[in-house]
Amino acid sequence: MTIDPMWNHEKRAAMRLKGKIALVTGGNKGIGAAVVRRFASEGAKVWSGDISPDLRREFSDDLSGHGKNISFEALDVTSQNSWERLVNKIVNETGKIDILVNNAGIYQRKSIEETTEEEWDKMLTVNTKGPFLGIKVALEALRASGNASIVNLSSTAGLRGSFAIHYGASKGALRLMTKSIANQFAKDGIRCNSVHPGPIDTEMGHAAVPHDQLEERLYQRIPMGRFGTAEEVANVILFLASEESSFVTGSEVVVDGGATSK
Ligand code: NAP
Repeated sequence: MTIDPMWNHEKRAAMRLKGKIALVTGGNKGIGAAVVRRFASEGAKVWSGDISPDLRREFSDDLSGHGKNISFEALDVTSQNSWERLVNKIVNETGKIDILVNNAGIYQRKSIEETTEEEWDKMLTVNTKGPFLGIKVALEALRASGNASIVNLSSTAGLRGSFAIHYGASKGALRLMTKSIANQFAKDGIRCNSVHPGPIDTEMGHAAVPHDQLEERLYQRIPMGRFGTAEEVANVILFLASEESSFVTGSEVVVDGGATSK
């Protein structure tokens, strides 16, 4: 990896991802959509991969602006074939991938008694095997960058025990996978960090914190007393994706309004 000694305030004021090639999974909505928008506005060419065929739903207002830098693609993160198809397409066009954001994920608010074996398998397959396959398939393209950043969306549920045991297990495993990747591939100019949001104002966030539990789960348990926004998480992901975080790898960044400080 090359360190730019000319890094200065003037440069920081410029677009923070200018010329970067980024792949964001689960980019159709929620945190992923906020990341796709933010990256495009910071000068990256963004490939948004999502399982839903309704690819442009969230972005209809943007496509005349920075949206020109966004390509919408079908991607099922649980399928190696699907990853290979998309990564090959990007590499054929650009020769590399600079940023991989493993954001796609699922959640289910179920106790261990309610969780079936199939639901356990699906949770671990999407949330843990998905990022594993993505990193494995994109590895050569990330090496080709010479200065790449992987950001894995874990959760505060990956740091401490949670009600949904299969979700917590999937996110805890992702946290440690992040550190293994950081160790093994620093020599190839690849950084890898995890982000750990608390409750965020998305479809998933509202499924995790039902309306009748807002008082106890948000107002009492979280010092800042509210949901975070997808944009507040995207800001942190942007920092980790950009060269501003050039000496940060194997780290875990919590975005939770102070919840885990208790
Ligand atoms: P979201 O609103 O549910 O969006 C997730 C996106 O991922 C959806 O577009 C979904 O598509 C897509 N997806 C699901 N399975 C996929 C697959 N197999 N392949 C490709 N795409 C797939 O979730 P979010 O709240 O933005 O969360 C994003 C990430 O942050 C997740 O990893 C989540 O675990 C993590 N996180 C979220 C919170 C929170 O409170 N929101 C807290 C901590 C961590 P469909 O909707 O069409 O299935």
